[in-house]
Amino acid sequence: MNLNNHPDLKAGLAAVRQAAAVCRSVQQSISTDALEKKDKSPVTVADFASQALICRHLQQVFPDDPVIGEEGADDLRADGGAAFLKRIHEECSAASVSCTPKQVCEWIDRGGLMEYRSRFWTLDPIDGTKGFLRKDQYAISLALIEDGKITVGILGCPNIPVKDSEPAGQRGVLAWAVAGHGSWMQPLDTPDGEPTPLQVTSTTDATEARFCESVESGHSSHDWSRKIAEELQIHREPFRIDSQCKYLAVARGSADIYLRLPTRKGYKEKIWDHAGGVILVTEAGGAVTDIHGNVPEFQHGSTLAINEGMVVTNGQFHEQVVNAVGNHSPS
Ligand code: AMP
Ligand code: MG
Repeated sequence: MNLNNHPDLKAGLAAVRQAAAVCRSVQQSISTDALEKKDKSPVTVADFASQALICRHLQQVFPDDPVIGEEGADDLRADGGAAFLKRIHEECSAASVSCTPKQVCEWIDRGGLMEYRSRFWTLDPIDGTKGFLRKDQYAISLALIEDGKITVGILGCPNIPVKDSEPAGQRGVLAWAVAGHGSWMQPLDTPDGEPTPLQVTSTTDATEARFCESVESGHSSHDWSRKIAEELQIHREPFRIDSQCKYLAVARGSADIYLRLPTRKGYKEKIWDHAGGVILVTEAGGAVTDIHGNVPEFQHGSTLAINEGMVVTNGQFHEQVVNAVGNHSPS
């Protein structure tokens, strides 16, 4: 696709690319000492800087487009926030964006829309913060939603191996999908290279499937997924990975299923934790519903208010998996 014919995708890719570079450099600077102390400040800095840079970029190209993002700048303006704001401002400056700390807050606050509009972007500036802090996987997720439908989705996965078969090889993937135009990926470091189309697996026998789920059992019930796997006679070990990298895993055929199983009644999934990934999988030929088999609805503000959990498959045995989910519950 010629990007000049698709300004939404072009702007989104440039924004995510810039944010990914900042997140990468902050993650690489996490010291062993900080890791041991479980110091969360690097993720705070990268998270806000990522949102600031992406909202800035979108504002320049589409000044009227609102953004439903995960962060707001109120905490940065508060007394304890000054030191963080200074570091975030430094990261933006290092990305060659000359600005004032006040502008940084204004950009972040552009991501503060929480109600539905006919056209809006949704952004998770760092999805998988726990993975980020472990120096493991995380994603930057950006999606455009028009009339309630995801029309563009972009995932920056700065730490994921470019080739599944070469886990120690080159890392960093930029993946995207446009409604009706398929899903694509490119190594983050070769923006001029030819993109590769993404395609889900063609596994038809659920017993052969590999499923992925959150590393954090507080975000998706491992106990429940174990029972589902038993019923489906899945013999492969679960692939646990943080963030919307799980959607990328299904879209590019590294896994056949992604299960997100509520750990408590009443939790409402956030749209920014899914929108970018959902279109990546559907455009790669897969299927996405909630745990009841309902299509996820992105027109209810910041949450998937009428949905519960998520079931993502290669589309070959979706109903079978949804039925297995319904046959069990977490103990
Ligand atoms: P993951 O990387 O799959 O563990 O998912 C990370 C996302 O889980 C975060 O961005 C949070 O928005 C989301 N999250 C936080 N608490 C919960 C919860 N109780 N259930 C499901 N998702 C959650
Ligand atoms: Mg998230």
